[in-house]
Amino acid sequence: MSEENKDQSAQPNPERKTLDDRAKMTELERIRHSCAHVLATAILRLWPEAQFAYGPPVETGFYYDLELPHRISQEDFEKIEAEMKKEIKANNPFEKQTVTREQAIADATAGRLGGLAERPGNASKFKLDLIQQIPEGEPISYYKNGDFIDLCAGPHVMRTGNIGAFKLTTVAAAYYKGDEKGPQLQRIYGTAFKNKTQLDEYFKMLEEAKRRDHRKIGAEMGLFAIDTEFVGPGMPLWLPKGTVLVEELEKLAKETEFAAGYVRVRTPHLAKEKMYKTSGHLPYYAESMFPKMEMDEHREARAKLQARIAGLEKQLADCANKFGSK
Ligand SMILES: [Zn+2]
Repeated sequence: MSEENKDQSAQPNPERKTLDDRAKMTELERIRHSCAHVLATAILRLWPEAQFAYGPPVETGFYYDLELPHRISQEDFEKIEAEMKKEIKANNPFEKQTVTREQAIADATAGRLGGLAERPGNASKFKLDLIQQIPEGEPISYYKNGDFIDLCAGPHVMRTGNIGAFKLTTVAAAYYKGDEKGPQLQRIYGTAFKNKTQLDEYFKMLEEAKRRDHRKIGAEMGLFAIDTEFVGPGMPLWLPKGTVLVEELEKLAKETEFAAGYVRVRTPHLAKEKMYKTSGHLPYYAESMFPKMEMDEHREARAKLQARIAGLEKQLADCANKFGSK
């Protein structure tokens, strides 16, 4: 592969962890990341053609991104979880193997990485790209549990049986490396814990949090209304009772500030991006405080149409190939 091609395919991946980051993974993160391998194993038993991209632990569990013509839904979770349970019960060790870059490229080309066996004609395309992102000189390793081999630097738990308790939670759309021009993938989320008690406690806590959600309570108490259609989520319209509370809090803040010798200033609510960059907010709070506003109401419909057009173009190309080869 020429240098030029290599640069194009090896786009930086914001999700990539360094070996240093990996060494710091906690026991719980190891359990969760190991569970992502088990999830991939299970999905491949059901859909051997699946192509896996990236499967890290996250704050609430883990996910694995994959490409698959079948659209996985919540209805599939039961049979996926059943296969996962079999893999955990088999108590297969996570075996590490260090390979050369050439070997890794050869195995990915044969479809073996992120697979249960070689898959001729179905190269492990995301793994091929991930290999390009491994810096020269950094060891390249596989981890194998049962028949599943994944390109991975670890760490994991010792055996699949060490995954105490798990549950799949949601499925969402995701772009490869977060790039919306890249291929669209399915992201399966799950969570895992050391044991069933901790798993049950986690879901109980989620239920409690839902019950205590300030958006729900505030609306029930008649403090504010949230209109997602006309105004936007997270933008409360304060009703009379709520307004009293807001003003009382403001009064208290003013009195406290005055007593401490502060003076007040006023700024506009909106400003140019440059200001938030200078203040240092934007680099750290882009997602939580300043998420991009979605102004396009037809996005979903357009995505559906684009998928349909892509399908038709593929049929057309298949037809052309068929008749062209005769
Ligand atoms: Zn791994």
